[in-house]
Amino acid sequence: MKKILFTLAVLLSGTMLHADDVKYLSRKELEQCNIILTYPQWKLKALSFSYDDGNIADRKLIEIFNRFGMHGTFHIPSAWLTDPKRSVSRVKEAEIKTLYSGHEVSGHGAKHVTLTLVKPARIAGELDGDITTWQRITGKKLIGYAYPFGRYNDTVVNILKEKGLIYARICKPAKSFDLTEDFLRWRPHAHHNRNIMKLGNDYLKFVPQRLSLLLIWGHSYEFNKHNNWDRIENFCKLMANKPDIFYATMGDIALYAGAAAKLALTADGKSIQNHSDRPVFLIYKGEKIELAPGKTLCLK
Ligand SMILES: [Zn+2]
Repeated sequence: MKKILFTLAVLLSGTMLHADDVKYLSRKELEQCNIILTYPQWKLKALSFSYDDGNIADRKLIEIFNRFGMHGTFHIPSAWLTDPKRSVSRVKEAEIKTLYSGHEVSGHGAKHVTLTLVKPARIAGELDGDITTWQRITGKKLIGYAYPFGRYNDTVVNILKEKGLIYARICKPAKSFDLTEDFLRWRPHAHHNRNIMKLGNDYLKFVPQRLSLLLIWGHSYEFNKHNNWDRIENFCKLMANKPDIFYATMGDIALYAGAAAKLALTADGKSIQNHSDRPVFLIYKGEKIELAPGKTLCLK
């Protein structure tokens, strides 16, 4: 009897393929099929910025970003909006939607607590505070985070994932321009006080073979502290208006990468299908393809 049930289970598992059973193809598997994933409009480079703490100096930074067509992500502790000790130097709730329009408001722990030093319930509370407040103020689902003080461990990462956040930035620098494959431990390339002009020039000369990124991070108030606003202004001027660069927030990049990770072979193994809810851009044997949600690409 046991044997019959087992055989039946095996037979059923072969015929009842659910959406959950779809095996998405890794970047390497796609490359084996001669498919190169790209960003929208078949670009392989992207530039993004990640700024923490939500200081009033964000106003000046955003003015610079807007002037040069840059899109940044701003990680702001939501409870600091109403904390009397903090609120003087913080952006105001009433200006958030307008100020950060074209950019992204992201989480940074409601009270900026070091998450590795507190119990899971407190970690969850810090995340819930940001999720609730930012979704109410911006009207958008919160998907991202920057770990306060760059501190994280597996418990923190798992709770973040459970809460539905899809990316979180750390401080340790990335070793290459390849786009991260670990979005919950997303490394930036450099703090803006490093030699970002050299880094920018290196990236402009770089010839990517796959999705790449240059991600700069910092705090906007540091430009006032070091009196070096010219540093970010010159960097943005250097990097602006390049037809091969996708200027995007971290959220844009993480959502796009999430969609690009939902390509799977059809049952007959002859085509690739886009199982995501947004178009995915790719190059197949030199041909530029925009694969709409649900559509398939026939492999030759
Ligand atoms: Zn911070």
